Amino acid sequence: MLTSLLDLVLPVECGGCGLAGVGWCRRCARELADVPARVRPRVDPDVPVWALGPYRGARRRAVIAAKEHGRRDLAGPLGLALATAVSRLRRWGELPAGPVVVVPAPTRARAARSRGGDPVTRAARVAAGHDRRLEVCGLLGTGRGVRDSVGLSAAQRQRNLAGRVRIRTAAGPPPGAAVLLVDDVVTTGATAAESVRVLRAAGHRPCGVLVIAAA
Ligand SMILES: [Zn+2]
Repeated sequence: MLTSLLDLVLPVECGGCGLAGVGWCRRCARELADVPARVRPRVDPDVPVWALGPYRGARRRAVIAAKEHGRRDLAGPLGLALATAVSRLRRWGELPAGPVVVVPAPTRARAARSRGGDPVTRAARVAAGHDRRLEVCGLLGTGRGVRDSVGLSAAQRQRNLAGRVRIRTAAGPPPGAAVLLVDDVVTTGATAAESVRVLRAAGHRPCGVLVIAAA
């Protein structure tokens, strides 16, 4: 009774398939729990890149709902999927067994604010809640003049970002700690490549990139 009354006020539907009455259904949870796969974006970030799966279906709808439609609740299933992927990558020997610092990919501050916070950071925090060896550190930001990358080619994206990803806090992880860059979607790889370059230049040790979906 209470649930149906609340439904009238806040209609709940699955962020992956639209099924009414649940925020994230079991079928979409199965789809999101797929094993991470190595992908090779056109701009090579010089560390391995893994995706939870292709940018379609429930995965794509969840990313869009979290980013564009303010579905903060989807940080739960997305974060759990990231934590599951990290634990698999550890088992496969692709990630160190010890502490890993998760660094969300840089987002344009204004865009993140207008969307009510960065969904990648939120999902990363949920992932860290599932795995005590994960720690989230918002090391990266973008400087002025970075345009939204939608519709830009690989070369344009690289130019758009060159020199504009920056370390935004001195309170980083201990030097030498393994750093895993996390993002929602990898398209050309330009953001990941520039982020890895900046992290290395600052003395950090990026060991890979993990994304929810590969476009
Ligand atoms: Zn669903």
